[in-house]
Amino acid sequence: MLFTKGEIDLGCDGHVHTKFCHHATGEMEEYVEAALACGLREIIFLEHFEAGINYDMGATWLTADEFVFYQGECRRLDQKYGERIRVGAGVEIGLNPQGLAEIRDFINGHSWARVGLSYHYFEEDGEHINMLSRRQENIKRFAAIGHEKVLTRYFSDMLVAVKELQVDVVCHLDAPLRYSQGVEFVAEHWYLIDEILAEMVRKKIALEINTSGFAVRGESFPAEAIIDRAQRRGLMFVAGSDAHRPQDVGRFFDRLKR
Ligand SMILES: [Zn+2]
Ligand SMILES: [Zn+2]
Repeated sequence: MLFTKGEIDLGCDGHVHTKFCHHATGEMEEYVEAALACGLREIIFLEHFEAGINYDMGATWLTADEFVFYQGECRRLDQKYGERIRVGAGVEIGLNPQGLAEIRDFINGHSWARVGLSYHYFEEDGEHINMLSRRQENIKRFAAIGHEKVLTRYFSDMLVAVKELQVDVVCHLDAPLRYSQGVEFVAEHWYLIDEILAEMVRKKIALEINTSGFAVRGESFPAEAIIDRAQRRGLMFVAGSDAHRPQDVGRFFDRLKR
């Protein structure tokens, strides 16, 4: 799953969070300093947007006001550091299949350095459960629903989203249920993954190589088998650390080099 020079830009960390999402720490400026310290040319903050999510364990996304402040801070940092490193304001769109219109309005209502597409919350009986959470209560609920069913809906909805939305990158494609035991993809999942990759080629959407996976499971998100398929189709790749603290900016990027 290694990349040759030119296949991926390892001088840019394109997926970095801030304290505004309520589960990251550190000042934005500290993330920029950390990016400089590891020799990056560009850092793109990619903060969480969610539409219509009903989750009572605390919001993991920004409010409209927080987004205004966040974008202002990105601009200030870009001006301050611009000669040494580029600082971009991006957004990590959390998919809600019921919220496509609201998502579209949000994307179009601002100018973004990068629009990433993720899918965090699985809906059941009007409630949302976080597919990327390590909380035992979430893990148990997914086991009760059935991993296969959860993943089938995840990949089918992602396929609709890459067709319906204008995004630049698909983030951590195989990260859902990452903390559940015994998760395996079945033929239907692989079929949907192939359809998603084909649509991404058509729309020139890049595949994110999310290096947080090295910390969670010793391999990036997505895993090698998906990256192989993407490489065979000629997809574009971008790298992102998914840092939720300054010291994680650019983490494990060296493991992506051939
Ligand atoms: Zn996050
Ligand atoms: Zn993220």
